[in-house]
Amino acid sequence: MLTDKYPKAQLAHTPTPFEFMANMTKKFDGPKLWIKRDDATGLAMGGNKARQLEFYVGKAQADGCDTLLTTGAVQSNHVRMTVAAARKMGWHVEVQLEHRVDGRLPEYEDSGNPFLDKLMGAKIHNYPVGEDENGADQVMYDRADELAEEGYKPFVIPLGAVGKTPWGALGYVDCVEELLLQAQATGMKIDAIVLPTGSANTHAGVLAGLIALNSDIPVYGFCVRRDKVAQFERVLVKTRKVLQLLGVDENKATHDLVKCEDWVLGPGYGQLTTEVHEAIEILGHEEGILLDPTYTAKSMAGMIGMIRDGQFTKDQNVVFLHTGGTPALFGYPELIANK
Ligand SMILES: *Cc1c(COP(=O)(O)O)cnc(C)c1O
Repeated sequence: MLTDKYPKAQLAHTPTPFEFMANMTKKFDGPKLWIKRDDATGLAMGGNKARQLEFYVGKAQADGCDTLLTTGAVQSNHVRMTVAAARKMGWHVEVQLEHRVDGRLPEYEDSGNPFLDKLMGAKIHNYPVGEDENGADQVMYDRADELAEEGYKPFVIPLGAVGKTPWGALGYVDCVEELLLQAQATGMKIDAIVLPTGSANTHAGVLAGLIALNSDIPVYGFCVRRDKVAQFERVLVKTRKVLQLLGVDENKATHDLVKCEDWVLGPGYGQLTTEVHEAIEILGHEEGILLDPTYTAKSMAGMIGMIRDGQFTKDQNVVFLHTGGTPALFGYPELIANK
């Protein structure tokens, strides 16, 4: 594999299934719709962070660490899976929950992901400020220094800082390599990949993997946290870093390859919109597959928007990358308020 030279911990259940969505395809009467099930990666209820953690934890292990620290929103899937990864390794773990999302019901604070964090016994810190990526990261680095003084060997997983080495993105280089093999075995040709783009580890990993494999499949990233101008820069910088890690000319990540859309973002991170409701309902009703409100429902809304807009032809194959997040559904009971 392209990532073979990097240390990797075995944490994810892979290969994840690659499935045809017959009912969705029929419903929209457009391109053939497929789904890559990275909601099924295991590690305490699945999601894209399992593949990313394989490389963070691999690096931490190689560095002789025994403690993981990370930060995320209250309903962060990344935090939940970091706790699970640390438990699997038998390590100490401290996580920080950022109170970034306003106007939610009480379940947002204590059901779904934070419930699971507590169930796995994580030491939890709270960060009461709203959107403050750098501030939240800094507190974790300060806490890591304290832990080091106490004799722990801490490893901070930074999903925020673009300046850091994006080890986690290597997990999505693996994923896209796996996906292309599955497509080949199925005898189909992928014409587009749709995914949510947040820290951009997923987006950059997929894009860099495709570039390294000399594939020109377009990747459409739907923004979940920042507008498309800020996200574009982030994806471009990260993709180039991943290419460097892979020993591929970073200039192959040209501007036209980075596609970011932000019309699905709505009022911001973790906030519901009409499109989010609709996407969750459609996929649940048509395929019995669950989406989460923060990430996958937004990218599904994006894919549905592109189909309705006639951006794909009937003979094309579009792959939706399901990045997980379903435990967060329990933090949004208002989704079924009128049922
Ligand atoms: C973190 C997350 C994303 C965003 O992935 P990035 O690699 O951070 O861009 C998408 N979907 C789910 C469910 C996530 O938890």
